[in-house]
Amino acid sequence: MRELIDELNDICETEVNMPLSSMTTLRIGGYAKYVVYPNSDIALDGVLRLLKLRNIPFKMIGKGSDLLCSDDDYYGVIIRLDRHFNKAYFTDDMVTVQAGCSTIALAYQAMKNGLSGLEWASGIPGTIGGAIFMNAGAYKSSMADIVEEVFVYRNGKLEWMPVEECDFSYRTSIFQKHSDWIIAGCRMRLKDEDPNKIEQLMEDRKQRRLSSQPLEFPSCGSVFRNPEGKNAWECIDGIGYRGKSIGDAYVSDKHCNFIVNKGHATAKDYITLVREIQQKVKEKYDITLETEMELFNWCEKD
Ligand SMILES: Cc1cc2nc3c(=O)[nH]c(=O)nc-3n(C[C@H](O)[C@H](O)[C@H](O)COP(=O)(O)OP(=O)(O)OC[C@H]3O[C@@H](n4cnc5c(N)ncnc54)[C@H](O)[C@@H]3O)c2cc1C
Repeated sequence: MRELIDELNDICETEVNMPLSSMTTLRIGGYAKYVVYPNSDIALDGVLRLLKLRNIPFKMIGKGSDLLCSDDDYYGVIIRLDRHFNKAYFTDDMVTVQAGCSTIALAYQAMKNGLSGLEWASGIPGTIGGAIFMNAGAYKSSMADIVEEVFVYRNGKLEWMPVEECDFSYRTSIFQKHSDWIIAGCRMRLKDEDPNKIEQLMEDRKQRRLSSQPLEFPSCGSVFRNPEGKNAWECIDGIGYRGKSIGDAYVSDKHCNFIVNKGHATAKDYITLVREIQQKVKEKYDITLETEMELFNWCEKD
């Protein structure tokens, strides 16, 4: 049988032994054996068929802005769409976009086209695929409000899936239950608006984020989901963990639901801090804090 690297290279650009820390906004993680960048539907289909045939595990990574990778190496294939699946086109109030498009870039394109609905997303550093997977949101809006259809690869074919089937709710979608489904793109409906008004709102939100979030350090955004009836940051403050650190993993004193990497944090430092917070919040408030970011390549799932 031919080497996997040769088979992958026939289908699309492939990189070998790449640090996951370079693929995540937290800048933490071991090495990935292979990273592939399909450049067409045919290439995406080809890679997925090959990996199924060879029984090789794979993982989609958008911008890795919601992932805590372990320090271990990953012996599977990382599939990335941000290099080639990143186009968007506008028709009246509809935008059709590929899954690897940057969410921030799309929000700015929509503004320039005089289309409102993505202002909340202009500070979310991921891809559209990751935003659909997470039902990303902010300021009481989310992907669920604008997505009409998702172009999904499942059961060996690409098809349009209506939003009703996506089961969107708070930071949740049906895609989280089907790790073998690939989001290839989506169609969203936006609303006509004066571009200057949209730009002003985006600028206000940017200033709010800059003043309330520790954006000068690598992070994965909010670490914990807000539990019913309380903010996660209040629980963390309540147990006295604002400003606490283990190694270079540091609970931001600016926004204590952000645990940042002050330089050389390991995944082990990071998860130890996360587990301590969960345990102390449980003891003090009888609340189970669930992580918003996803753990990838850990033996024991969160
Ligand atoms: C500074 C900062 C601020 C943030 N603020 C917010 C915020 O306000 N609101 C919010 O909701 N989030 C926020 N986030 C978290 C994160 O940016 C979002 O959840 C984002 O949408 C994740 O996109 P991604 O492309 O980086 O996904 P990744 O982190 O790469 O992946 C997340 C999950 O989606 C899956 N996935 C990615 N692409 C695909 C695809 N094409 N098909 C199938 N599965 C896929 C991955 O396999 C993984 O399971 C923030 C993060 C940071 C660092």
